[in-house]
Amino acid sequence: SRTSVVTGAASGIGKATKELLEQRGERVIGVDLHDADVEADLSTAHGRLALVDSVRKLSGGSIDAVFAVAGLAAPTSATVAVNFFGTVATLDGLRPLLLGSPSPRAVLVSSMAALMPSDEELVGLLSAADEAGALARAEVLAKEPATTGALIYASTKLGLSRWVRREAATQRWAGSGIPLNAVAPGIIATPMTADFISTEQGREALLQSVPMPLNGIADPIVVARLLAWLGGEENTHVCGQIIYVDGGSDVVLRGDAV
Ligand code: NAD
Repeated sequence: SRTSVVTGAASGIGKATKELLEQRGERVIGVDLHDADVEADLSTAHGRLALVDSVRKLSGGSIDAVFAVAGLAAPTSATVAVNFFGTVATLDGLRPLLLGSPSPRAVLVSSMAALMPSDEELVGLLSAADEAGALARAEVLAKEPATTGALIYASTKLGLSRWVRREAATQRWAGSGIPLNAVAPGIIATPMTADFISTEQGREALLQSVPMPLNGIADPIVVARLLAWLGGEENTHVCGQIIYVDGGSDVVLRGDAV
């Protein structure tokens, strides 16, 4: 049976993904700050190395899929460290362990927020893999009014979507037989959004900016099922795609742009 690594496994979408794969009889190595098989802080270089070391030991050196789900939404520089650099380090660091699998897969979690206004300078620093520069830029944005803070999260997710597009067809991924893709959720009912969606007013404000005409706010299992398919054996040819699981937000916001 398959062995998968799921980051952010203690909560929300990561937890639902871990549970779904386990129900299907797969082995899952969960990674998170707490309540996980591997407890590592993906915002730090040390935590990223510890993740790879621990997964190598626990798996015996070979895994079949990586689901990079861990993330933060706060308007802080930590969000840049976890969402972008932690995710890239997870995928790059675990990639060698995928090479022994007969059907290796990799998926990360972007967001429909990648379609929202972002900070061009920050996105550029992410593309350049300049972590020190990106954290410094985020510190500046975090000091500005709340509207500027919101640019941080959107920038990290745009950065991730672009990273998938740049990487997926290279020798490292497609050339090594590994489909690399992303999911981009709309509003999902998890601890990350709980404060907003617990009130009628908060829900309405959120749905104003993220309209979800098809079935509204989703439960984390909805995203988990898509992740499980993209990271499963059946996916042999979906490559470098950002798949929106957003109740229609993308089409409302972008119309017939493809
Ligand atoms: P969540 O807060 O329920 O879960 C996120 C998990 O990531 C937590 O368990 C947390 O401990 C872990 N994490 C945070 N920082 C970490 C670190 N430094 N090291 C290791 N683990 C860390 O949130 P969620 O809604 O399940 O979010 C999962 C992913 O989905 C995130 O990448 C988020 O940006 C993305 N997303 C969520 C929504 C939504 O509406 N909930 C929408 C689009 C995208």
